[in-house]
Amino acid sequence: MKLFWKLFCSMVSVSILACAVGGFVLIDGQFRAALEQEMEVLRGENDMLRYALFMEAEGRVLSGREELEELTDQAVRQYMDASLPSFDKRDARFRYLFRRLRRTVGVIVENVAEELAASDFVPVAFELGFGDGGDLPAISVQTAGASLTVTGKVDRVDGWLKDGRLYLRVVDYKSGKKAFDLGDVRHGLNIQMLLYLFTLEREGGALFGREIVPAGVLYLPARDVLVSQPRGIDEARLRAALDRELRRSGMVLGEPEVLRAMEHSALESPRFLPLTLGRDGSIAKGVATAAELGKLSRYVDRLLEKIACELRDGNIDADPCGRSEEDSACTYCEFASACHFMDGEGGDRMELIRPVTPAEFWSQIDTTIEEERI
Ligand code: SF4
Repeated sequence: MKLFWKLFCSMVSVSILACAVGGFVLIDGQFRAALEQEMEVLRGENDMLRYALFMEAEGRVLSGREELEELTDQAVRQYMDASLPSFDKRDARFRYLFRRLRRTVGVIVENVAEELAASDFVPVAFELGFGDGGDLPAISVQTAGASLTVTGKVDRVDGWLKDGRLYLRVVDYKSGKKAFDLGDVRHGLNIQMLLYLFTLEREGGALFGREIVPAGVLYLPARDVLVSQPRGIDEARLRAALDRELRRSGMVLGEPEVLRAMEHSALESPRFLPLTLGRDGSIAKGVATAAELGKLSRYVDRLLEKIACELRDGNIDADPCGRSEEDSACTYCEFASACHFMDGEGGDRMELIRPVTPAEFWSQIDTTIEEERI
């Protein structure tokens, strides 16, 4: 699905560019061929990165950057043998794009290796499936006359064993700019990671043989990282700039011991975790208490029940939401030509996703739980 959107967005951005220049969607044969090359390279990106990360995290103790580079090369070579046997016959542009992709994979793998080296959490599962013959059952909701089943996969699950309990965090590699956003969750959007986390809490004990404690969700940027810095910049400043680009987004359990286990310097100078520290050293953003996560779990369950009921009732209202006209559910909608939704015309109104502070977010969760007695 991620790949679909990536390709789809590439096509859309190209189309928009063509429209801006000539007033037409004009993509000639040569350009289309170049685009297809980009698409083929992009197609391999997630698989290649996943494979490289898997090899890196296989339990080996790495002796240094060189060995990591060698492992990454090995993963890329194996990927090429399996998926790009005719690589040498491809034209220069394809090979250039692929080499660029290899550099990106190297940067991300190195960053993840450094993260794991600074953490007591270790990967305990890759591509963990929910339903469809996966490791865990599908997420399902039964409510008055309606049932809803959600299937999917989690890119990576990291665990930390403490006092017999297994703390789990769910990690998703994001090839686009998407970040975890409380405003989205408030509107019932992008809740998959939370769904997986809370299902792991309920069902993961059978798989891992321990009581599970939900410890958070993280989006890991896995995209071409471009850092614009002056020539001759020293390595420390370059790394800081890269770190900013590769900073995870998400929400994690805000218990000091757990945060330190996730990243040893989390409470002083977090490099990987999405924590914002206040002047007094307190954590202003990026964490939730165990009680808040419990409430969020109930809230997410309630959202699923509502979705199931709306499907049962056949509700197909044109009722989109978005951050702006250019960034809304309608922007890439395949049904736009059929539904004729025109924001601001007649009764058509797009619901705006506004930024929300953590305090506002948790206050709304409390209100919903109170009103609906869930
Ligand atoms: S174009 Fe219509 S169907 Fe598509 S998201 Fe917008 S309102 Fe919904």
